[in-house]
Amino acid sequence: MSSTHTSSLRGIGPGSGATPPNPGPEDFRNRLSTADQEGRRKWLFPRKPHGRFHQARAWLSVVLLAIMFAGPFVRIHGNPLLLLNIVERKFVILGQIFWPQDMIIFAVALLVYITGIIVFTAAYGRLWCGWLCPQTVLMEMVFRKIEYLLEGDAHKQRALARSPWNAGKILRKGVKHALFFALSFVIGNTLLAYIIGTEQLFQIITDNPAKHLEGLGFMSLFTLVFYGIFARFREQACTFICPYGRLQSTLLDENSIVVAYDYNRGELRGRLSRNQTWDQRKAVGRGDCIDCKECVNVCPTGIDIRNGTQMECVHCTACIDACDDVMVRVSRPKGLIRYASLNGIEKSEPLRVTPRLAGYTVLLFALGGLLAFLLFSRSDVEATILRAQGTLFQKMPDGQFSNLYTIRVVNKTSREIPIELKLENVPGELQVMGKEIVVAPQKLAQTSVLIKLPTTVMKSGTTPLVVGVYANGRKLQTVKTGFIGPREDR
Ligand code: SF4
Ligand code: SF4
Repeated sequence: MSSTHTSSLRGIGPGSGATPPNPGPEDFRNRLSTADQEGRRKWLFPRKPHGRFHQARAWLSVVLLAIMFAGPFVRIHGNPLLLLNIVERKFVILGQIFWPQDMIIFAVALLVYITGIIVFTAAYGRLWCGWLCPQTVLMEMVFRKIEYLLEGDAHKQRALARSPWNAGKILRKGVKHALFFALSFVIGNTLLAYIIGTEQLFQIITDNPAKHLEGLGFMSLFTLVFYGIFARFREQACTFICPYGRLQSTLLDENSIVVAYDYNRGELRGRLSRNQTWDQRKAVGRGDCIDCKECVNVCPTGIDIRNGTQMECVHCTACIDACDDVMVRVSRPKGLIRYASLNGIEKSEPLRVTPRLAGYTVLLFALGGLLAFLLFSRSDVEATILRAQGTLFQKMPDGQFSNLYTIRVVNKTSREIPIELKLENVPGELQVMGKEIVVAPQKLAQTSVLIKLPTTVMKSGTTPLVVGVYANGRKLQTVKTGFIGPREDR
């Protein structure tokens, strides 16, 4: 079967033609690791990974999972940590509420975020995929671990899959899928909580189901989708669905840090003969790779990293750990598969901070800083002052002129805000009609304001006005408007 989609990234590495010839099988370009000759899905049984990188990832996953599941319940100033309510166009990021009025900031933040991802990938490869992506974390650190616990390591899983259905197999598979389904339900509800908030979610769970058919529908849909992904679809989600994975070919270059096989050191690969010393092996042109295929056996996407960087590689580091283990056992230095750039491998250099890497890292921090600035420098309120429709100026009995305005104030916080308005650039009077302005949390308040100016400060036609919007003595925003007066009065 053809797999042209996998070819783009497969140009980086020993099989690219631009680099030393790869003595391994070259047909990897024309087939998928997860499909047979007829194109049918080939189920993978990756070996249980262990080693220093896996250990580090496991600890990080504990932290990430805790954040992921606790996230919807965490409140900052009464607001959720993250809420992406697309239906109601309400977004909360790090406790900051974004309104439709904030769309420009949101768009800039999105651009900064996308640029950050591009720069991050160009410098650090798919570090995100292996260490931080929720799909990898949940698949490898939760679902796969349950599978290893119930069905054993790869060879036992393979044997169980081939064995006829009997009570034991039904029980194992039944318990596994029940657990997978229950976990998918929790994950689906967590996602729903990030979209509609925990309050609404609890209402759906505790209220009369007939009142929440839509919410229950999404709950079931998310559960089924996650169950499908983690129980069946698995690595295919990274290979076929994830746009980030597919973008790699355009983002990575020879200086990007990737999980790489050191072909200079490893080739020519070959089995380690009994009683053969490493010097003897070297003398006949053999490298450090003993072709044990441990790196392939542990790979959750079923690829052979010795063929070079490939789109399917999610940088899970399992092959690094597996190969390091083999190298220790055959008394060779670790790192035959390691984090490296293609240039580093070609020149046999250890990983170091290159000016490019340092530059990209500085740029990343700058972008992160800009994003943080955009998020935290927003005003708590968004006020607009427009002259009341259909009104002109009026001459008051005291000789001053007045204009009537409509003020709209959006409260972006989750607390009540009393608003005070002050004329900033000219002496005059600003009078709020009716009650003082108090804006309820996440609501909009609208009222009329009368501004009076003495003729001494008025300009011909329109006088520019600057109005300060204050709350509890703190200035929140400055709004500009115009004051209309008679021309002939100058
Ligand atoms: S684990 Fe290491 S030694 Fe074994 S096949 Fe892979 S690269 Fe070669
Ligand atoms: S090649 Fe190595 S790092 Fe890449 S997915 Fe396979 S095991 Fe993980």
